[in-house]
Amino acid sequence: MRKPLIAGNWKLNKTIAEAEELASALLSRLSDVTETEILIAPVFTALDRVAKILVNSPIQLGAQNCYPQETGAFTGEVSPLMLKDAGCQAIIIGHSERRQLMGETNEQISLKVQATLNAGMQVILCVGETLEERENEEMLEVLTTQLTGGLADLTTEQMQNMVIAYEPVWAIGTGKTASNDQAQDAHSFLRGLLLGLFDPATADACRILYGGSVKPDNVDGLMAQSDIDGALVGGASLNADDFSRIVKFKPAGL
Ligand code: PEP
Repeated sequence: MRKPLIAGNWKLNKTIAEAEELASALLSRLSDVTETEILIAPVFTALDRVAKILVNSPIQLGAQNCYPQETGAFTGEVSPLMLKDAGCQAIIIGHSERRQLMGETNEQISLKVQATLNAGMQVILCVGETLEERENEEMLEVLTTQLTGGLADLTTEQMQNMVIAYEPVWAIGTGKTASNDQAQDAHSFLRGLLLGLFDPATADACRILYGGSVKPDNVDGLMAQSDIDGALVGGASLNADDFSRIVKFKPAGL
């Protein structure tokens, strides 16, 4: 059984004071949740202060990016160990906004994945096709390249700290969600790729989150799909009521 994970990607939003306010509001709504893992990823500047609010709570802290070196002459960058020092347990890597706006390649993403795992932290590795790639029937090829590139050279042991997020680019921030079937098909394809790369137990244990305009009104249907193990939530994670409702999704059949 894979324990569901609902993660909030706050992107480039919130001052430190606003981040503290949102984290406190989430804590007051979610402090008793045990059946689902919860993670929030604020901006770098708010991490340390939000970490202090989340101490001894069920809400984990994540960062949105890192640089794959521990220290050195890398102006403007932050390493996984520094993020761990700030209180993070996980790092989101390879988000489509970083691939598209900052030109991140699969090779760079693979280095970040390795550096994060070497720091003893969890990775949320994002993969997903653009609308053009889907329409040109290149989706499976894109997912294969991104997943195999991001997971290059990982051991079974390292995979214990790996979470995949399938995020179709055309559904991110657009209000267009993949249908339950479209999402399940992509997740099942990704699970098949994992099976080709690792032993069945490792492939089966790896959580695959769906991301792309997840909201309170569509989360239940998505979470009812057999290969959807959680959600990576952007816009709706900035609202305490919406994110809490997503965390408290209604399992299939209830
Ligand atoms: C995201 O940025 O990872 C995301 C899924 O955003 P949104 O939920 O706003 O589509």
